[in-house]
Amino acid sequence: MQSQTIDIPTPRLEIRNMRRSFGDRRVVDDVSLTIQPGQVLCLLGPSGCGKSTTLRMIAGVDMQDSGEIYVDGALICDTVFRIPPERRQIGLMFQDFALFPHLSVADNVAFGLKGSKDEKRARVVELLDKVNLSWAIDQFPHRLSGGEQQRIALARALAPRPRIMLMDEPFSGLDNRLRDEIRDHTLSLLKEEDTAVMLVTHEPEEAMRMADEIALMRDGRIVQQGAPYNVYNKPVDREAVAFFSDVN
Ligand code: ADP
Ligand code: MG
Repeated sequence: MQSQTIDIPTPRLEIRNMRRSFGDRRVVDDVSLTIQPGQVLCLLGPSGCGKSTTLRMIAGVDMQDSGEIYVDGALICDTVFRIPPERRQIGLMFQDFALFPHLSVADNVAFGLKGSKDEKRARVVELLDKVNLSWAIDQFPHRLSGGEQQRIALARALAPRPRIMLMDEPFSGLDNRLRDEIRDHTLSLLKEEDTAVMLVTHEPEEAMRMADEIALMRDGRIVQQGAPYNVYNKPVDREAVAFFSDVN
């Protein structure tokens, strides 16, 4: 019999059997997830279900009790081996992940960049153009609106070309009208850069709007996973129905 080769793409990010307890309380309980390049996975669930803890372990700022993390098929962290956060090529955006107030917009965006002065400048100019803030290059953060600061934070996170972008409720601090606009803009920019995205949110509406795939989390576990349409239309149980009921 002829052997067949099956082309299974290597996920950009894979986490396997992740567990984390605080004291005797297990807040992340056997979580496994994969994300492909260019894909947006939303980790969606009520406050306190373990979303941020999951993200912090992937970023490397918290350590799992057990489980493995792979980037492009290579192990970056298990319980004995651990690549430090700054070498994981992972970008971070948090709601309160503020810009450096004493640095100009240009220096904020260039902060994580390596290379010559000219190379850094070129990347800064490219990204500020993409977030439509070229005019602000020599401004300082306090002169900018909340939405503008958010776009600068996105440019800063994308500048070193991270392979994965982790976003923890990054739009929560923005008013409604601005939030829709920034969500859409962020999404198109992330798709252009071909990063894999894990977006954490407790708002079903945000997940429905942004996700390629939703992983629904509850009490430290993934209870349902799939395309937004399927998760929304075929809720796994009554609790999921209730959770989604505020989406129009
Ligand atoms: P979410 O992001 O889904 O709101 P978290 O991952 O922040 O949830 O937290 C999950 C649970 O773990 C919460 O009950 C929280 O209080 C608890 N927790 C998070 N970090 C710590 C910590 N460093 N020490 C003790 N408990 C923690
Ligand atoms: Mg959180």
